[in-house]
Amino acid sequence: MLIVMDKGATPEELNAVVERIEKYGWEAKPIPGGERTAIGILRNKTPIDPALFVDMSGVRDVIPVSKPYKLVSREMHPEDTVITLENQGKRLEIGSGKLVIMAGPCAVESENQALEIAHAVKEAGATIFRGGAFKPRSSPYSFQGLGTKGLEILAKVREETGLFIVTEATDHEVLDLVEEVTDIIQLGTRNMQNYRLLRRAGQAKKPVLLKRGMWATMDEFLMAAEYIMSEGNDQVMLCERGIRTFTRHSRNTLDINAIPYMRKESHLPIVVDPSHAAGRRDQVIPLAKAAAAAGIDALIVEVHNHPEKALSDGPQSLYPEQFVKMIDELKNMGMEIG
Ligand code: PEP
Ligand code: MN
Repeated sequence: MLIVMDKGATPEELNAVVERIEKYGWEAKPIPGGERTAIGILRNKTPIDPALFVDMSGVRDVIPVSKPYKLVSREMHPEDTVITLENQGKRLEIGSGKLVIMAGPCAVESENQALEIAHAVKEAGATIFRGGAFKPRSSPYSFQGLGTKGLEILAKVREETGLFIVTEATDHEVLDLVEEVTDIIQLGTRNMQNYRLLRRAGQAKKPVLLKRGMWATMDEFLMAAEYIMSEGNDQVMLCERGIRTFTRHSRNTLDINAIPYMRKESHLPIVVDPSHAAGRRDQVIPLAKAAAAAGIDALIVEVHNHPEKALSDGPQSLYPEQFVKMIDELKNMGMEIG
C-alpha cells in the first residue's frame, strides 16, 4: 500500500499517517519525491483496507501496491535512485545519466597485475576497478583468490589510482572484511538467493551490486534486492550477467529484455556484465553496446593485461586495447562515459 500525500501536506499530517500505520504494527517508509511525499506501508501480513487512510487530512491517494516487492518497485518510488560514491575528494554518481564503467580482472592475482590493469582501464575511462579477492569457483581445485592479501592490493589500487573499488563478498565472514575496504560490495550470481547474506548486506553501510542468479526469474531477482533493502540499505544496483539457456555459442545468454523490464519495475540503477554473459572475448563488445543501447547505468567488464595467463576467466577478458576500443565505440554511439 502506498499513501500519496497532497503537495502541501504539513509535517503534522504526515506524522499522523505514520502514527496510524505504526499503531497497526506495520512499518511506515516515507518516500520524499520532487513534488510530493508518499508513504509506503511495509511488513503487513494481510491486505490493508484503504478506508483506514483515505479520509485523513493531507492524504491525496491510497494506492494498493500490486507487486510482491515493495521497496525496490517503481510504484513505491517513482524517481530513479542515484548512488553516490566518494573517495579522496572525488565523487561519482551511478544512475544519473552517464554510463559508468567498472573494469578490471576477474581476480586480483598480484599487486603488479592489479596496478597495471587499473592504470590501463583508468586511462581508457573507467572510474571503478573490479577484481575478486575471494573467488567463488566451480571447481575446488581452481584458484580461489588471494583472500585478505587481495583486499590489501585493492586498497592500494584505490589509494594509488583514485579508482573506486567493487569486489565480491562470498559469505558472512568475507563480507565483514570486504566492507572495510571496498566502495561497492558485490554479491555474486551463486549467492543471489542466500537470504542470510542478503540481509547482512542490507545492514552494511556500503552500496551493493547484486548479480542476478543465472537461473533466476525477474521476480526472484527483485525479491532478492528487496531482502537487502528491507534491512535498511537502499543503495542497491541490479546487475544482469547472463542466464543459462540451451545455447552453446556463449557461456550464458545476456537477457536484454531484462533491461527495459527492470527499468519499468524498479527505480534502482541497472548494471550489465557482458563478460560473464558471453564467456568469450569476441562477444563482449557487441553485448556491451547492445546493453548500452537498451538503457543501462553502468557496465562491469573483465579486462586483463595477459588474458592467456589469467588465473580465472581469461577467455572472456578483454585485452586493454580492446577495452579502449569498446569505450571508443560506446562514445561513437553517443554514450556519455563518466
Ligand atoms: C565475477 O564477477 O567475477 C563473478 C564471479 O561473477 P558472477 O557471480 O556473475 O559469476
Ligand atoms: Mn569472472
